[in-house]
Amino acid sequence: MEKIQWPEEKPFAVFLSHDVDRVRKTYQYLPYFLIERRLYHLRSLFEKPNPYWCFEKIMELEKKYDVRSTFFFLKETKKLKMLHPSSYILSLGHYDFQEPAVREIIRRLDSEGWEVGLHGSYDSYTNKELLVKEKKELECALGKQVIGIRQHFLNLEMPKTWEIQKEIGFLYDATFGYKEDIGFLDERYLPFQPFNDSFFIFPLIVMDGTLFSKYHDDATRWEKVQEVITLAEEKHGVISFLWHQRVFNENEFPGWASLYEKIIKDCKGKNAWFTTGKGLYDWVIKKH
Ligand SMILES: [Zn+2]
Repeated sequence: MEKIQWPEEKPFAVFLSHDVDRVRKTYQYLPYFLIERRLYHLRSLFEKPNPYWCFEKIMELEKKYDVRSTFFFLKETKKLKMLHPSSYILSLGHYDFQEPAVREIIRRLDSEGWEVGLHGSYDSYTNKELLVKEKKELECALGKQVIGIRQHFLNLEMPKTWEIQKEIGFLYDATFGYKEDIGFLDERYLPFQPFNDSFFIFPLIVMDGTLFSKYHDDATRWEKVQEVITLAEEKHGVISFLWHQRVFNENEFPGWASLYEKIIKDCKGKNAWFTTGKGLYDWVIKKH
């Protein structure tokens, strides 16, 4: 796409999303505890309510600004390698779409205007059978078709991952972007179609963890975020934000939720059009 008119002639679009890697803080943190001897992690395992859940908090926050987002749910099945602590983070803390509380929040999000998408598991970016299975299971929990996906760890092999996603019925992918920086990879300011058909890529521009690990103080982070928002405005493009749902736990991630809110306020002030991935898809497919 070279140019696009946004609804109500808004200057640019904002696509908000949350990857749901884990829904509860569990024993996957024990290795860290043992290594780092940080009592906090151990104590927080017994906190009620579960400090990572955060769904209601995000819903409340977004409702306050009358915006909605996409939640990408993960079903990780990667096996744990006991001798490789680095694999713990991938292998432990799994959840299932059919757990009553998870299924309930999936349905509630959908019924109240949020979008439920799939967060493809670590190995699924090159594994069609696995991705089909995950998609079906999520659709079963949701009770309807899932059209959007983002791959866990932003794992992406182009064009293979997109071919698989498209073949099994996804309509858009939201994985493409910098893994270790924020900004517009390949100067992609707008959604694009790798196969010149109805399958779209919605680039990822700002990810929470990258922003916080690469830039170390509030002022620099805000400056960086302003830079990309200004670019999105100038190009009449789409800027997307990924804030993992667990980082809305202020005790462990101080300042993350408030930065997210500040971004929403700022973009609202700039008259942006806020959308879920599905909302964006519906608009670009109509305009295409
Ligand atoms: Zn992830």
